[in-house]
Amino acid sequence: MAARSNLTEKECLELIKYVCDAFSAKTTESAVSMIVEHIRTAFGVSCVSIREVFSRPYSLRYTYESLNDPTKVKRINETVTYKETIWQSAMNKFAEGCYIYKADNGQDKPRFIGAVPNMPMCMMQMPMYIGSSFYGVLDLVDFDVIHDWNECEKDALRVCANYISQYLYNLNSAFKGTSDELNIDPLTGLMNFQYFTEKLDEKICQITKDTPITIVYTDINHFKYINETYGYRRGDEMLKIVAQAVREDVSQHAENMMCRAYADNFVMAAVVTPEMIEIFEKLVNDLNDVICERLRENCPDTRIHIDTGIFYIKKPNITAASAIANANLARKIAKRDNIRKAVVFTDEMMDEIKYQEYLNNALPKAMANHDLKVFYQPKINCADDSLYGAEALIRWQKPNGTFIYPDKFIPVFEKNGNIVEVDFYVYREVFKYLRKRLDNGLPVFPISMNVSRVHFRSNRIISYVKGLLDEYKIPTELLEFELTENIYMNNFSKADEFIGICRGNGIKVSMDDFGSGYSSLNVISSIKIDTLKIDKIFLKNINLSENDKAVIETMISMAKRLGMKVICEGVETESQAKFLKSANCDQIQGYYYGKPMDEESFNNFAADSVIKPYL
Ligand code: C2E
Ligand code: MG
Ligand code: MG
Repeated sequence: MAARSNLTEKECLELIKYVCDAFSAKTTESAVSMIVEHIRTAFGVSCVSIREVFSRPYSLRYTYESLNDPTKVKRINETVTYKETIWQSAMNKFAEGCYIYKADNGQDKPRFIGAVPNMPMCMMQMPMYIGSSFYGVLDLVDFDVIHDWNECEKDALRVCANYISQYLYNLNSAFKGTSDELNIDPLTGLMNFQYFTEKLDEKICQITKDTPITIVYTDINHFKYINETYGYRRGDEMLKIVAQAVREDVSQHAENMMCRAYADNFVMAAVVTPEMIEIFEKLVNDLNDVICERLRENCPDTRIHIDTGIFYIKKPNITAASAIANANLARKIAKRDNIRKAVVFTDEMMDEIKYQEYLNNALPKAMANHDLKVFYQPKINCADDSLYGAEALIRWQKPNGTFIYPDKFIPVFEKNGNIVEVDFYVYREVFKYLRKRLDNGLPVFPISMNVSRVHFRSNRIISYVKGLLDEYKIPTELLEFELTENIYMNNFSKADEFIGICRGNGIKVSMDDFGSGYSSLNVISSIKIDTLKIDKIFLKNINLSENDKAVIETMISMAKRLGMKVICEGVETESQAKFLKSANCDQIQGYYYGKPMDEESFNNFAADSVIKPYL
């Protein structure tokens, strides 16, 4: 194959002009691709590529490449690390201007080149510099023919190489600048969450027995209060204080990195060896105390506290995202259970969460299939053991016929608000049941339904119950709602409105689980309800002590003085029933008289009972 003819001086100048124009017209990246392509066609060579210095020593990375036969070599993003001697000899050659290899003149084969499928017949390597620092190489390679390069061509290529390196350098530092900024949380100067997660993934891969990683997830509770009371600027300052305190303190004890996940949530990863674990947990707890104290100093009257979860990564078998999620889960348990010390993640927590997810996902189908069953537990009149009525209690029937009890799922649905739909479902079942008995000419009795405090976030309950009354036309004296005292603590006015509307329309209202909370006495004097339901906790002893009896008697007489009826739940023995009767209690509910039972069983129970709903 004939050698190509050299570029004329005019063509060399045109090449330089092309490079200048390309950079002024295009974005750097596409300009470099165009230029590389243009150089290859102008010189008629097989391949032109750019290699840039890489962050490892003696390494170059292929960043741009143009080939006349695209199937031949593709080395973009390939990084080659050279022996120091090869690197050094290449630098020496570059110091003379450029390096030219020709297969026919007895030269050693070029070694300062990446993996190529065919050995080049000739190549020209033009170094690129930024100032006096080596930046990379512009390679022109031919696999088929041998070229000569004249001085004019070499000069033109040197100018082009300098233009290119300058632009690439600017491009890379622009990227570097932005990415650094993007990696940092501007407020606290900590890493941002995404960058932290990336780094943590890298660190997890490197975990050894001696360098396990501990994740600490921290949330400042009631931080909103600082923002609202002292303003966002003070809030921001406080977040900086937290970041600084943690960084200074923990860094003295363990290698660590930290980020602000969002708002007032911080995540830390620290190398904590097994023998350090106890000390580390103490350190975290002490630090939380210090932070709270500093926040309170700066913002007096804040009720601030810190919830912290810890997850230990012992093996590199988990992603950063899952590890952080586990620490966060432990943190949520700390919050839920009001634990003021850091909570360490356990597998049981995960099981619990999975179970909750299962329940939430299964709920809509369970409602549609009527797997949620309403059971009825009799309420007995103390005066003559006649049947007063019943309480509706929900159960979830599984396909194998067994039941999930409400204490397993009600708290889950209270958390996400699904309890509202569950309660509405129960109310509708109760209305339907009473309607059926009325239509069949059977005697009827009041049925009480439980009301979750979640209803009083919205009060949809009022219109829902009105709708049921319109639809089923149930006499309101057959209906009763049981509210627990915690209802009154959070949403007093909405609960009060509901109670007023119920009682105004003849629906009874009772206070459930009385005496089990903290503020029972406060609440009882300030609201108007029909019935006080004494919590079963007071009957925990089968043989009631004199003290137990004194407390129960006092509650009963207090309720009576306030004009209320009294029912006691959880009655399991004859002696308990006897005592309650003697203490002037109105009604009794408990296993002694009847467990909660399904509709059919309760119909039978009622058929065998004297029914006195108005006693
Ligand atoms: P609660 O409203 O205080 O209901 C009384 C609970 O005591 C029921 O438990 C009942 O089965 C149980 N119990 C009754 N007699 C005895 C007894 O003699 N001894 C003992 N040890 N326990 C007795 P259950 O059915 O498991 O319900 C637990 C709680 O779940 C209820 O307490 C109520 O707070 C809630 N719940 C049940 N159904 C519903 C519902 O439809 N909606 C709402 N929001 N909550 C419900
Ligand atoms: Mg109840
Ligand atoms: Mg109760």
